[in-house]
Amino acid sequence: RFITLEGIDGAGKSSHLEFIRQWLQARDISAVFTREPGGTPLGEALRGLLLSVETEASLDTETLLMFAARQEHLDRVIRPALAAGQWVVSDRFTDATFAYQGGGRGVPDSRIAVLEQWVQQGLQPDLTLLFDVAPDVAAARMATHRTLDRFEREQAAFHARVRDAYLARATAPRFAVIDSGRDFDAIRADIASRLQRLVEQA
Ligand code: C5P
Repeated sequence: RFITLEGIDGAGKSSHLEFIRQWLQARDISAVFTREPGGTPLGEALRGLLLSVETEASLDTETLLMFAARQEHLDRVIRPALAAGQWVVSDRFTDATFAYQGGGRGVPDSRIAVLEQWVQQGLQPDLTLLFDVAPDVAAARMATHRTLDRFEREQAAFHARVRDAYLARATAPRFAVIDSGRDFDAIRADIASRLQRLVEQA
């Protein structure tokens, strides 16, 4: 089973990862937790370059680098784990490219879709948890807690476009849109019911 977590910066993804980890552990489900961009040594190096405030690649270069990191991630981490019967939980995956490089920065979906097909060859997550929150709420959350990377420094309009692009993709059945403006208990109940459904399908 392959699960991905998505959402605009500050939507609360990372806070819920730990809950997912404990939920799976309590059921003796062996899972690999990973992230994008990143997840491998080369991927993490590319992440450093992509998120740095100093380097700003052209749009297509940025998109290609995201997919280069993703190819490495699929070849070395995701596919081997799935083949071994483990679950994989990735903090972001290709939907983030459609949302950030596509919706946010204007790369046409058709160009991203070519690369998606190239690296995934039909592989899709079984479940994508989309943490959805209004950009102003997300910005207020982020303001309190860390140094912002290149994308997080973008203006509210950028994050609004990213959010809209995520929501537009969320019509696919693999998506669960989680209203992240609510309290943690309500959010976690939603996550747990989605995970339970996956266990029952397995
Ligand atoms: O998930 P996390 O917030 O750590 O992601 C790091 C940054 O990478 C985010 O600010 C996100 O905006 C950006 N990103 C991106 N394009 C992707 C994936 C992530 O711009 N495809």
